[in-house]
Amino acid sequence: MQDKIYLDYNASAPLRPEAWEAMKPILLAGHGAYNASAVHHYGRAGRKLVEQARAHVARLVGAQTNQVIFNSGATEGNNTVLHHFAETYPEEAIFISSTEHPSIAQAIDNYKNIKTIPVDKNGIIQGDTLGELLKNTRASLISCMIVNNETGIIQNVSDILKIAKKYGVLLHCDATQAAGRMDIDMSHLGIDFLTLSAHKIGGPQGVGALALGLCGQTPTLLHGGGQEKSARAGTENVAGIAGFGAAAHAAQENITLYQDLATMRDKMESTLKTITPEVIIHAKEVARAPNTSFFSLPGADAQSLLMALDLEGIAVSNGSACSSGTVKPSTTLQAMGMDEKTAASALRISMGWATKESDITAFLHAWEKIMKRRKNKPAT
Ligand code: PMP
Repeated sequence: MQDKIYLDYNASAPLRPEAWEAMKPILLAGHGAYNASAVHHYGRAGRKLVEQARAHVARLVGAQTNQVIFNSGATEGNNTVLHHFAETYPEEAIFISSTEHPSIAQAIDNYKNIKTIPVDKNGIIQGDTLGELLKNTRASLISCMIVNNETGIIQNVSDILKIAKKYGVLLHCDATQAAGRMDIDMSHLGIDFLTLSAHKIGGPQGVGALALGLCGQTPTLLHGGGQEKSARAGTENVAGIAGFGAAAHAAQENITLYQDLATMRDKMESTLKTITPEVIIHAKEVARAPNTSFFSLPGADAQSLLMALDLEGIAVSNGSACSSGTVKPSTTLQAMGMDEKTAASALRISMGWATKESDITAFLHAWEKIMKRRKNKPAT
């Protein structure tokens, strides 16, 4: 039987061997022996591993090591920042882009001062639009993702930052889909808060980080035992954090290899267009993360295509990971001005550290087969 092929890295990447090797001894030690807050020698060993991982994660995104706070993932990081600003500055607006992940868009959806920044047809925030919004509204925070999880577009963060600084507004970036796929230097850029998730870069699920810039604020959601210098209470997930650190290190070491995925993606898109010229490839004209392709087959139902591909052994997605399994059309595409039908016929291919050329070839074979079947199907 043909091996199953996984092309859904933006939802969750397979665990890198480096991450597993880092986690294994900790998980096998048992009895919570590596509790990083304990003073005995097991605890001190755990602390050392956590601090090593912190340095690797900080280096991946250009953060200061002591400004990285481990947590349970990007959903928590995003909620932490948004709740902090909604509660600390209730009279000031929080601007979020109209294509944010639900962990931003729904984090504070009953906050009266949440406002959206429209995007253009490629999902990009226009500087003039943002400037106009900030000129007219007092705001505490802008939150925008660096790389969109559905289309893969890269937002122009340095332009957004210039405008944010002009109006004295802080910037939070969800870098879940950007980390390990492109160079990020949050200190150099001047980003104030950055959220990360281990499982998108080949670390384990259920661990992530919030990296702080230099604005001096420490958003805190979970209070209790004083872990993470009281910025995030709860016994440290030492195995998860060590796996995250190892994955961050491996991602950084291989960041240039990652660029090869862009060549594979572009070849794949051109063959896809040859097989099905009616396919619309979204945001093709703008800079995208090298691993992502998002396209619509007008008139088709993404859910049916997804199932047909799954029967051929190919795992892809119809958009946001958190919407997988539901039939909602892509909200990102709708924010980009696509009609609901086109948005409902979109599929996402996302590649990663273990993707091979043969995986893409297999996907294209399966696509061609499904398309032939579709053509031969009698009209009902
Ligand atoms: N932000 C973005 C852009 C994402 O793609 C995801 C995962 N789909 C999240 C946040 C949530 O990440 P986590 O699974 O770590 O909570």
